[in-house]
Amino acid sequence: MIRSAQELVGSAGTAIWQADVCVVGTGAGGAAVGHTLAKAGAKVLFLEEGRSWAPEQFVPKPSVAYRNLYQDRNTRVMEGKSYIPLPGGRGVGGSTLVNSGICFRAPDRVRRRWSSFGLDWAAPGGELDAIYGEVEALLGVAKTDPSQARGNNLIFKKGVERLGHPGGDFISRNAPGCVGCGVCQLGCPTGGKASADLTFIPEAMDSGAEVHTGCRVERILLERGRCIGVEGIALSPDDRSIGRFQVRAGKTVLAGSAVGTPLLLWRSGTGNRSGQVGKNLHVHPGTGTIAFFDEEIRLWDGVTQGYYVDLEDEDIVIETFSATPETYYTLARRSVGGDLRKMNRMASCGAMIADRSSGTVRPAPDGRPEIAYSLGEEDRARLIRSLRFINTVYAAAGAVELQAGVTGVPTVRTLDEALAQLHPDVALHEMNVYASHPQGTCRMGVDPDESVVRPDGRTHDVEALYVADGSLFPEALGVNPQITIMSLAVWIGRRMAAGG
Ligand SMILES: Cc1cc2nc3c(=O)[nH]c(=O)nc-3n(C[C@H](O)[C@H](O)[C@H](O)COP(=O)(O)OP(=O)(O)OC[C@H]3O[C@@H](n4cnc5c(N)ncnc54)[C@H](O)[C@@H]3O)c2cc1C
Ligand code: SF4
Repeated sequence: MIRSAQELVGSAGTAIWQADVCVVGTGAGGAAVGHTLAKAGAKVLFLEEGRSWAPEQFVPKPSVAYRNLYQDRNTRVMEGKSYIPLPGGRGVGGSTLVNSGICFRAPDRVRRRWSSFGLDWAAPGGELDAIYGEVEALLGVAKTDPSQARGNNLIFKKGVERLGHPGGDFISRNAPGCVGCGVCQLGCPTGGKASADLTFIPEAMDSGAEVHTGCRVERILLERGRCIGVEGIALSPDDRSIGRFQVRAGKTVLAGSAVGTPLLLWRSGTGNRSGQVGKNLHVHPGTGTIAFFDEEIRLWDGVTQGYYVDLEDEDIVIETFSATPETYYTLARRSVGGDLRKMNRMASCGAMIADRSSGTVRPAPDGRPEIAYSLGEEDRARLIRSLRFINTVYAAAGAVELQAGVTGVPTVRTLDEALAQLHPDVALHEMNVYASHPQGTCRMGVDPDESVVRPDGRTHDVEALYVADGSLFPEALGVNPQITIMSLAVWIGRRMAAGG
């Protein structure tokens, strides 16, 4: 059953709830770990700061979605040499509510490195393979069908094929009921995307789990070094404090994302004997650009991200990208001018890199996250190379105008001109850089001096306290992370159910 804090707390002052396992956060990791434990017979209570949404409640307008479905109303940024947006989802389903449904397994090269951190089960051919299979089956993961890919994805495919590049393919997605309406980042209004709120959570509730929404956990409760639950503020639907709650639980799992989980440990003043809490933040920085064609593309019609190219040698993944016309108008305003019909002929693609740079998450004095991240020289150079690749593909596909991907420069007609704009000295602030995959801030490992969480999900320092979200990754994954986070969380849930 899903109940809101407003229903639960009422005039009680402080509500007190009991559970075998309390899971903080209902995103990719929280939903998957709670699902596994509920199915194994545990009484699971999920606590979620955001609200619960039905597909028909989603309004495909950025202003509405940002206010309701995103952390900090989608104003979250990382500060360093430049400001880089770091959006995150909020609500039952977490970031899976607003993601594009891209599903990649972790590359073998990454899994081999992870096993060197003591995660033997993550090695290629290990237990993780079978779990990936189960997660993919539950989410209905399948390769994007060309009939839903449509103009924006197919024009990029055309360019990749003309170049004869071997690494391109349609993206596999967890969207079995997708109709290609192109608004994934605003909440899927058809229910066609199998986000965590439509898969793991309802199945967990069938096994007796409860979800309490509007519950912002503030602190972990400790008794003689053991976690005995959590406490926090109950929120009204418009985020006003309406009371307090406490949960007493045999085991507690933190799954508030790689931003929310370290913040909770910091605020609770625990779990950080290694000094690693909030460090090692990786984000998969990305950039992207647009091109114009003679033919109609209608980039907002079709799946948002349906085609990719893996530039494996560089740890770069190129992925087509689309959003609503109003989102794109800001980017394209200068080249579109007053002729809005030109937007019909626009195509768009992005790139993300497995970052060598890293950052930190700390609580600011007002309790909100302070995220520090500076992109290093090597990563900046890889973003420029990504843009050069995208322009090359668009030119091969027959683009008549290229916006190289450097801000403030005019669009150009030839590839040579675009590549000249993308010289090695393009500064970070001259590219549109963003990121949406925070990870690594409570990394897993065997060494308690170098990691926060053991390879089985238990924190090194606090008994009965676990972590199961993107913060676990020992180093940057390099591909879109949701099914890897879910699979790690399932593995941890199984260890917990077995008494670990
Ligand atoms: C716009 C966007 C597009 C993306 N596209 C893709 C994609 O196509 N494919 C892919 O693989 N990945 C994608 N991602 C990333 C992916 O969705 C996330 O990496 C993944 O969902 C993270 O899982 P998580 O469990 O770490 O946290 P989240 O899924 O972010 O869930 C964390 C939840 O915890 C809640 N929470 C946090 N703190 C507290 C607290 N103190 N008390 C109570 N609740 C709390 C939050 O409200 C949130 O609901 C995208 C992300 C975004 C933002
Ligand atoms: S393209 Fe539309 S139908 Fe398909 S997953 Fe995205 S929002 Fe849902």
